[in-house]
Order: sequence, then C-alpha cells, then structure tokens
Amino acid sequence: MDQERYLFVETQGCQMNDSDSEKIAGLLAGHNYMPTADKEKADLIILNTCSVRNKAEHKVYSYLGTLRPYKEKKPELIIGVGGCVAQQKGESLLKRVPYLDIVFGTHNIHKLPELIDNARVRNERASETRFYEGEPEIFLDPVLARPADLGTGKVTGLVTVMLGCDNFCSYCIVPYVRGREISRPSADIIREIEGLVETGVKEVTLIGQNVNSYEGGVGEDTDFPSLLSEINSIDGLKRIRFMTSHPKDLSESLIDSFCSLSKLCEHTHLPVQSGSDIILERMNRGYSRDAYLKKVQALRGKSPEMAITSDIIVGFPGETDADFDDTMDMTERVRYDALFAFKYSPRPETRAAGMTDQVPEDIKERRLTALFDKQREISLEKNREYEGRIVEVLLEGRDPERLSGKSRAFKTVYLKGDERLVGETVMARITKGSANSLTGEII
Ligand code: SF4
Repeated sequence: MDQERYLFVETQGCQMNDSDSEKIAGLLAGHNYMPTADKEKADLIILNTCSVRNKAEHKVYSYLGTLRPYKEKKPELIIGVGGCVAQQKGESLLKRVPYLDIVFGTHNIHKLPELIDNARVRNERASETRFYEGEPEIFLDPVLARPADLGTGKVTGLVTVMLGCDNFCSYCIVPYVRGREISRPSADIIREIEGLVETGVKEVTLIGQNVNSYEGGVGEDTDFPSLLSEINSIDGLKRIRFMTSHPKDLSESLIDSFCSLSKLCEHTHLPVQSGSDIILERMNRGYSRDAYLKKVQALRGKSPEMAITSDIIVGFPGETDADFDDTMDMTERVRYDALFAFKYSPRPETRAAGMTDQVPEDIKERRLTALFDKQREISLEKNREYEGRIVEVLLEGRDPERLSGKSRAFKTVYLKGDERLVGETVMARITKGSANSLTGEII
C-alpha cells in the first residue's frame, strides 16, 4: 500500500473552477492524496487558475512566488498549475517558474495522476494542455472524481453538465481556454447526482458556461429541459438550480420547466452585460435589450416568485454616458435581486482588447459606483418586501450565532435554531430584509 500523502488546492475564480477543484481532490483521493488545509503539510500543491479575472497572469506568478519557500524547505513537494491560465500559457509557465513541476489545461484533469507520478518518481516536469474536443475523457468518471469531502455534511453540490462555449463574446476568453461546447452524457450526470444524494446532498447546481445549449452526449437526442425533468425525479433530491443561462438561448420550454418541475428553484441568473443595444452588438451577445426584457417578462409571467440576478460590465470600449444610462434603466426596469458588476478590463487575445475606444478608468469607476448604489437600493426594497412572508429555507451551515441557508429564490436567510437542523428544509417567517440577506424565525 502506497504511503498517504497530502494535497493542498488553491482555487481562483469561478464556480466552474470550484467544481474542477472538487474533482481534482476526489480524483487524487483515489491515488492516496488526502486533502489538507495546511500548506506546510502538503506533498502536492495545486493552483487552479482563472483568466476571467483582472490581471490573471500576474496573480498566478505572485501566488507561485509565495510557494518558493515551501519547495526550498521540502524539495520533494510537487507544485502544479491548472485551469484557464495554464491552458493559455502552457510550457511557458514551466520556463518562467523553475520550481514548478506540472502544468495541466482545462481538458487534462484526467491526466493528473500520471503527471504527478512522473514528477514524483522521475523528476519529470511536464505541460499537458491538449483539447479533447468531442472526446468523453474530459468528463471524469462521476464515481472516481467524487468530491473528497462528500459525506462530511455537505448539503449542496455542483455538477458539471457541459464544458466550453461557442459564443465568442468579444470580451471573453472562455472559448479559447475551455474550448468549444461539449455536453456530458445524461446517464453520467444522473449517476453523479444519485451518488451525491446518497451522501446527504439535498440541492444540486448544474453548471456550464451556457447550460441552455445542453444537448446530451454523443448520439443522444435530448435538451436541457428534458435533463432537468429526469433530475427532478431523483428520490431524495430536494432542489435543483442551474447556472449560467445565456439570454439568447433561454427557451420557452425551459421557462415552462419552472412551473412543471417541483424541485427547480425559482431563480435565474441571466447575465445582461449591458442595457445598450449598441454595446450589446459590440459585445457580440446576440440579443437586443428588448428581446432580453421580453424573456424577463416571460419568466416572471410564468413564475411570479422568480428571482433574477445578472452580470454587468461597465466601461466596455465605446460605452458613452447614454449607453450607461441604458444600463441603469435596464437595472431599474428588471429590478434584479442581485447584480455582479465589474469594470471592463481587456483580456489578452480577445477582440474587445484591440478596440481603440477604451473608456478611462475614472469614468468606469464612477459608473460602477452609481450602478452599485442603485442596485443596493433595489435589493433592499425587494428584500424588505419579504418581511412577514413565509419562505422555505434549506439550512446549509451555522456561524457561532445562527443557522444560515438559502431560500428557493437564492436569498441568504439567517435563523435561530438547533445545529442538528443543518441539511433540513424548514419554513421560516421573515422578520427583516436587508440589502444582502433576510433574517427570520423558524415556524
Ligand atoms: S457566453 Fe460569452 S461570456 Fe459566456 S462564456 Fe461564452 S463567450 Fe464567454
């Protein structure tokens, strides 16, 4: 029997990376690497990188710089870098960081055990960044890659249903670093969720860059609403969420699913990015503000309790005051439940990075502050509307003072109660709505 070793994973960025890090930990647990939160103890440190963030490359080098003393103290320590920056930079990361052992791309997680063995036994440094487009290897076996912390009280789980993106929004690096869209076979998804439910998971979030384009594995004739319907019939599962929906692909049948599927929670994350038609066109988003507003109306028409959240980029190249006013107007019309807003910053190798009419930093800053102020007002108003109402809450954890959980509409709810209720759904009367959360009492 191989000696037990320890793995430390640092994750930068998005939900997709959180899920990949869980899979890495699960996969490597099967190769005697147990997760640790202590870098000193680790025999293997993996940095899972994200290039959607500002100054992504710089962040990678600076994190790797902090690892040098660990390697000096323990030369047998293996250091690996995965994720989007690894996909983009490949071999050059190895050249620039002499104590880095492994670079693996977004389609190469399944190669990790082999790369680690080669580094450990033969001192081999390697970079694997091949795209496995259309080849099922990139979806790890759902049993082999189970999160290593399953069965330790986890109530919610992330489940990848598709990878990559075909949309090529002009500011986005994803299609270049995660490849073209590929859907995972539905049988594997179902098997993974059943496995999660067996270990106590009550809610799953199906993730992918554009889940609405889900079409099943090779030779399967299915779509996203059909997948949701299959998942809805899994015994023991209480809630289903999904993220992210591209507005142009939000179909009528998906909107109908919110009425017909009892476990599908009333929350849609529908990134609008801008309220201006001119900017949407330059972003290559594939919808107009009118078309977007119609989808919002359809969602709320079918499901009045629907919470809608969104992403917005301010200061995209060429954005004028009038364009930004359209974005503010969109925010007021939709009355989002929450917004994730960012200042535009160019990502190397994207079309928008080469646009000449970049917006000055101080204007971006001013617009972002105005947007946040507006959204805070709206969120507060919307959450106050909950006061006195009764909502279902899935309890996910507790801090020293109180239990915390999520309502079906994805609101964070704080309640007083027994710790043993974590993992249960309870009904709660809301006593206070704040800008970011609700407080209530169990009834
Ligand atoms: S839909 Fe656009 S923003 Fe989203 S991942 Fe694809 S290219 Fe990027």
